[in-house]
Amino acid sequence: MPENASRRENPHAFETRAIHAGQDPEPATGAVSVPIYQTSTYAQEDVGRHKGHEYARTSNPTRSALEACLAALDGGEFGLAFSSGCAATSTVMNCLEAGDHVVSSDDVYGGTFRLFDKVYARFGIEYTFVDASRVEAISEAMRPNTKILWLETPTNPLLKLTDIEAAARLAHERGVKVVVDNTFASPYFQSPLALGADAVHYSTTKYLGGHSDVVGGAVVTSDRALHDRMKFCQNAVGAVPGPLDCFLVLRGLKTLAIRMREHEKNALAIARHLEKHRRVRRVVYPGLESHPQHALAKRQMRGFGGMISFEIDGDAAGARRFLSATRLFFLAESLGGVESLIELPAAMTHSSLPPEVRQKSGISDTFIRISVGIESADDLIADLERAFEAV
Ligand SMILES: *Cc1c(COP(=O)(O)O)cnc(C)c1O
Repeated sequence: MPENASRRENPHAFETRAIHAGQDPEPATGAVSVPIYQTSTYAQEDVGRHKGHEYARTSNPTRSALEACLAALDGGEFGLAFSSGCAATSTVMNCLEAGDHVVSSDDVYGGTFRLFDKVYARFGIEYTFVDASRVEAISEAMRPNTKILWLETPTNPLLKLTDIEAAARLAHERGVKVVVDNTFASPYFQSPLALGADAVHYSTTKYLGGHSDVVGGAVVTSDRALHDRMKFCQNAVGAVPGPLDCFLVLRGLKTLAIRMREHEKNALAIARHLEKHRRVRRVVYPGLESHPQHALAKRQMRGFGGMISFEIDGDAAGARRFLSATRLFFLAESLGGVESLIELPAAMTHSSLPPEVRQKSGISDTFIRISVGIESADDLIADLERAFEAV
């Protein structure tokens, strides 16, 4: 992959940026941890003379610190923090006008699909959903009014990949901006801006926050016009995070690198264990040689993340027994926290998809998704073995 742009511009490694970018000691007291500025407004010395903050919907120092750190981790110039991943997605869409067209991955996060299909489509924004693992499908879907190519890679729960560099090249030939939802990989494992994307999107609720204690979102870009437009829309609409939430995400970022390494190490051990298990039909993990896009994953990612999907033998009732038999893997939606989670996409996160669409895409009633945490891999494997006994 191309050299990570941020490594060229910022002399410091990812781990160092995560702890220092935007986080100088607080000048008044020397506090080394960025304070939670719990305020709605800021006193001005004179009309229009202030210290950079006027009203907390527009900006807040805790949020500014988080935004600077987010930008540094993706090698971007500008970061924006939001109240949720969906609020970040909304703000990108708010930059469009009625009659504009968006090409999107078909296997996007369910909430993203709902927002596009049930909300923004009502305001005259048009969407085409394509299998973005095929660059030709993206190309065929482009129209003269296409403004944004929305990619998610790897996807959820099928863990399909899009070749970001190839997709960005063909989008840019048509003047289309590319936004990559990088929630699954995190900036530690994938740098979409360095691969040609115009903006990177996150649900910081997941790996970036990392402790299942905050809901948040982010967008990072080096495109000043795009940033200014999003900043304007965010402030106009009010999709902003509170200072405590910003503090929690910023605290999560400090350990992102070491957490991601552990997530991956555990995921690889579990994926290999499941792959040779006689009661498992198939395992989907980009780090396995058997993944159809393993070569692309190796080229455009620096690691494969902590999400695994696998299909077990048996029927829907057996799968439900499996899910309720684990003790360390909590049965829950969401992902990316230090604790391991397990869920059944067909009945939970992806239940809103019509059954034929689910079947066609491979989300069967025994297709299980796990978010591998950073507990001991041996304990996690033993926990899954207990679940196999219960089926
Ligand atoms: C969770 C998630 C979102 C939505 O983020 P929220 O913080 O829940 O609003 C968007 N994209 C992906 C890939 C996600 O996993």
